[in-house]
Amino acid sequence: MSEDESPLQPGTERIMHAVVTGGAGFLGSHLVDSLLEDGFRVTVLDNYGSGREENLAHVESSRLTVQKHDVRDPFPEFKTVDVVYHMASRASPEDFTSHAVEIALTNSQGTKHALECARDHDARALIASTSEVYGNAGEHPQSETYNGNVNIRGPRAPYDESKRFSEALAVAYERKYEMDIRTARIFNTFGPRMDPNDGRVVPNFLTQALRGEDLTIYGDGSQTRSFCYVSDLIAGIRAIADAPAEVAAGDVFNVGNTEEISIQELTDVILDVVDTDSGMTYKPLPQDDPEVRRPDISKITSQFDWKPSISLRTGLKRTIPYFEQRLTDD
Ligand code: NAD
Ligand code: UDP
Repeated sequence: MSEDESPLQPGTERIMHAVVTGGAGFLGSHLVDSLLEDGFRVTVLDNYGSGREENLAHVESSRLTVQKHDVRDPFPEFKTVDVVYHMASRASPEDFTSHAVEIALTNSQGTKHALECARDHDARALIASTSEVYGNAGEHPQSETYNGNVNIRGPRAPYDESKRFSEALAVAYERKYEMDIRTARIFNTFGPRMDPNDGRVVPNFLTQALRGEDLTIYGDGSQTRSFCYVSDLIAGIRAIADAPAEVAAGDVFNVGNTEEISIQELTDVILDVVDTDSGMTYKPLPQDDPEVRRPDISKITSQFDWKPSISLRTGLKRTIPYFEQRLTDD
């Protein structure tokens, strides 16, 4: 899209400016693509902890600025900001222990700085929350009204409890400063630019299958997840962020795919879509690993007419070439 076609801040001649924290990560980089495609000027703030410069290396637009910045520190000064997307946070359960304090602070202090940036500029904010706020859910599927079952002192707490705090802080800012803040509770999402060494199940299984190694099933594989392809997820995030204030300000929406599958069944799909001799091996189930997970997406579907359109199988087929390339390059 040319500069002339970029969305303008109403009443001005200014192109809309989006700040995206975590924009060099998996989801953040796809969000950046979508915003640039729609003509926004975009500034990425990322510390490259789990993200990579290569995730944005394909971008040629002069409307993108990337700054190495840790969101635990106050944001740089900007002249104008129209929307802040707070996507920064490591999200792999393996990091919940190895990077516990960093994660807890990214979703507390980092959220504070994102909200302060939005407040300073009278901008809209979108906070990336997670299905992990529901913990080992006692309600299935999980709707936005379910308050969750989270272990405050468990190994996942630096992530799930800090995401809960992040949401609580957003609500506090909304009420105290009458800001326009929206929250997206993101369910398991996969696609190109996920780090093959990330430790989450789709990158692990794809990497193992492509290398002909055994797929590592944690526990007996009866636990379920519902996997969303990245393009669907980004469309959902944008639907929430772009909606008029009357229908979205101050609200929270689940975003994800409702196609629920056990981890054991996921191995069958992977072994079907990857040409491999891999078998399976069983490892202990991590503590507090949620037994079931499926989003109730009736709220986002009824309010914004959004629903996922890419099946797990199709999404995996679109993801495999990226993993093949990464395994060759690395
Ligand atoms: P990712 O690790 O690929 O991306 C996170 C990005 O944030 C990386 O680029 C990383 O370098 C950056 N980052 C982390 N801490 C930072 C800090 N302190 N300062 C600056 N940058 C920092 O993970 P992702 O899967 O793309 O997740 C993006 C967001 O979506 C996260 O907030 C995550 O909690 C949320 N989310 C993702 C999923 C999923 O399935 N992918 C599910 C639920 C929620
Ligand atoms: N898992 C697995 N093998 C792996 C990685 C993960 O069986 O190599 C399981 C994990 O225990 C969980 C599910 O797959 O039950 C999804 O894990 P992931 O880390 O992708 O995300 P989570 O939903 O736990 O945040």
